[in-house]
Amino acid sequence: MADTLLSQILSVVTQLQQDSKTLAASVDAINGRVNALADVKKLKDDDDAAAAATAAAIKGRDGGKPAAATTTTPVAAGGAAGEATEPPASPTNDVIPTVARKPNVTSRIILTTYPGQSGIDPIIMNWGEKDTTKRGPVVVSRGASTVRRRNAIGAHGGSYSIYHALAVAIQDLKVDHKPDFTNTEPAATIGPFPQWSDPKKIVAMDPLGHLAPWLYNDYINKENVEIRPTIAITKAHMKLPELENSVKAGRLKVDGKICLNESGELAVTKFAVEPVWYLPGVAERFGIDEGTLRRSLFENTGGSFPELITRNDIKLFLPPIGGLTVYCFGDPAKMSDPNVKLALRVHDECNGSDVFGSDICTCRPYLIFGIEEAVKEAQKGGSGVVVYFRKEGRALGEVTKARESRSKYDSWCNIGKRGIDRASEYFKSMKYDAIVGQGIPIHERIPIPDEMIPEDSRVEIDAKIHAGYFTTARSKDVRGTTWITRTARVHMWPPWST
Ligand SMILES: [Zn+2]
Repeated sequence: MADTLLSQILSVVTQLQQDSKTLAASVDAINGRVNALADVKKLKDDDDAAAAATAAAIKGRDGGKPAAATTTTPVAAGGAAGEATEPPASPTNDVIPTVARKPNVTSRIILTTYPGQSGIDPIIMNWGEKDTTKRGPVVVSRGASTVRRRNAIGAHGGSYSIYHALAVAIQDLKVDHKPDFTNTEPAATIGPFPQWSDPKKIVAMDPLGHLAPWLYNDYINKENVEIRPTIAITKAHMKLPELENSVKAGRLKVDGKICLNESGELAVTKFAVEPVWYLPGVAERFGIDEGTLRRSLFENTGGSFPELITRNDIKLFLPPIGGLTVYCFGDPAKMSDPNVKLALRVHDECNGSDVFGSDICTCRPYLIFGIEEAVKEAQKGGSGVVVYFRKEGRALGEVTKARESRSKYDSWCNIGKRGIDRASEYFKSMKYDAIVGQGIPIHERIPIPDEMIPEDSRVEIDAKIHAGYFTTARSKDVRGTTWITRTARVHMWPPWST
């Protein structure tokens, strides 16, 4: 009896395997047809280009008479193609040099790929693996020599990938352009840290991102695989007009190392970070399953990344969003020293206030205060860090933010409170929860002094206070508590909440 059942099951499984093979073959055939169509289109495009060239050349010779151009047929173009390459007779002609441009991409379009598809051979990627060779590089390029070796979905550069596309399209950049990494090595040594070899600790950036081109240069040199850094570390000077006042007011001291002079100029180490998402880890942080996350990302990017659906074996996604920049004051090695205090501000980009000083909100004063506190802590022998997220208006974007700020009594900063946007509602508590949730204790939250908040911004602040935005266990009436936190990896101080 059991044997009969088993053999029935076996038969069904065998049938399923056959069906799956047939399906895969059909998909390959469709891909083939798409590519064949692309080839046909390319031939037609080439003909059209030749015709246009001839027409343009004729136009040039005839001093710009348009008649010849409109009556030129592809047949005539074929016969006159040789002439099209002649230099135009008139130096003042306005021939658009479309002919000189060869297509920047091949005619074969790979719409998507499947695990196990012939030729698909992703480079090893073991997220969270300690041994960097076994971990493998993040490979996301779709260049001819790399597309089959990809182990990540998305694109380098976040939202700037679109501008990169434009540059390639107009042939300002070659499609196989290879960046020169000479003298771009990180300006500070960071890591490795134990967290790097825990796949669940770091899920939104590549901890090896600053080292990738050097760690994995064999792939670049021997296999022509495109590997780019996703983190860049450099040193810079920072000058903000408010900080000159901070020095004058005595809040900042010139030490010649971090605060360089009376104008409040600061020495800073800057870490630019591109997002690299480890999808299982991101899903877990949001309390959802990976499939739900993938489907939502696919649908809500207009179906831009089909491999989110077809390549379950690829676990990394470089989303088309802004990254973050870490500004570190003092010795970067102190950032990870458990024996010293770390002052931290996590700041969401606010173009209107941070850059243009508009009075819709108070983001810039908070940013300045955050920098000031970070510098002070670094000068005391600790470390000071400002993390700047390119995530305008709690990830709502400037249009929504500006629109909402027109409503009575609510700055955009407060809209989440009224349930206007569930995304903002969700993201609102994320900074604090994310930090503490990852096991980094916050020992103290430092309130921004009243005098740092401009008078005309009080409406926003009062709205925030009214909405319970600034509550701390220490003091319920703290006005404008900023997200400055003093954290430490060891419990040298009692947690702020006790
Ligand atoms: Zn703002």
